[in-house]
Amino acid sequence: MDTDLFVAWFEETARLVREERDRLTRLDAAIGDADHGTNLDRGLTEVCKALADSAPESPAAVLTTAGTTLIRRVGGASGPLYGSVFRQMGKALLTPVTLAGFSAAFEAGVVAVERLGKAALGDKTMVDALAPASRALALAVRDGVSVREALDQAARAAAEGAKATIPMQARKGRASYLGERSIGHEDPGAASAVLFMTALATVAG
Ligand code: ADP
Ligand code: MG
Ligand code: MG
Repeated sequence: MDTDLFVAWFEETARLVREERDRLTRLDAAIGDADHGTNLDRGLTEVCKALADSAPESPAAVLTTAGTTLIRRVGGASGPLYGSVFRQMGKALLTPVTLAGFSAAFEAGVVAVERLGKAALGDKTMVDALAPASRALALAVRDGVSVREALDQAARAAAEGAKATIPMQARKGRASYLGERSIGHEDPGAASAVLFMTALATVAG
C-alpha cells in the first residue's frame, strides 16, 4: 500500500461523495441539518487540492494532510471527527505499509474518533460503520487474506454497520436532539463512512 494508493483513496472518496452528495444531505435532512453531503463534498475537494499542492511523500503524510484539511475546511461536526481519524492514522502508520500496519493504524483512528466524539458502538454515528470495518480488517489480518479481500470485507462490514443504524436512537450529535424521532433513518455519517471504505476497496482492487 504505497503513497499513490493513499492519494487515490481520497480522490475516489471525493468522486463518490460528489456522486452521493444529495443522498447524504437527504439523510441529514431527516435527522440533522441537511448539510452533510455539502460539508463532505467541500471538504474532500479541498483535500484533493491540498494533496495535489503538497505532493506528500509517504502514506502517513497523505493522511496527515487529508486530516488537517478536513478539520480546517469542514464546518460541521464531521470535519473534526473524520479529520481526527486520518490524523491519528497518519501518526500511527509505519512505512512500508502492510495490511497489519494499516489495520492497526485504522484502529487507532477509530479510537481517536470515539474519544473525540465520546461515541460508542450503538450511538448511531459514523462509529457504527467505522468500528465494524476496523474489526473486519483485524480479522482479515488474523486470517491472512489478501489486501484486496481484506478491504472488500471492511467495506461490507461498514455497509452492514451503517444499515444497522436505521433502527437505532441517536445518542450523539444533532440527531440525538430528536430523541425517539431519530429512529427509522440511516445515520448520514455512517453512510459517508461506507463511501470512504468502498473507495479504498475500489482503488486497491
Ligand atoms: P453537523 O451535525 O455539525 O451538521 P455533519 O452533518 O457534517 O455535521 O455530520 C453529522 C454526522 O457526524 C452524524 O451523522 C454522525 O455520524 C457524526 N457525528 C456527530 N456527532 C458525533 C459524535 N459526537 N461522535 C461521533 N460521530 C458524530
Ligand atoms: Mg449536518
Ligand atoms: Mg451542520
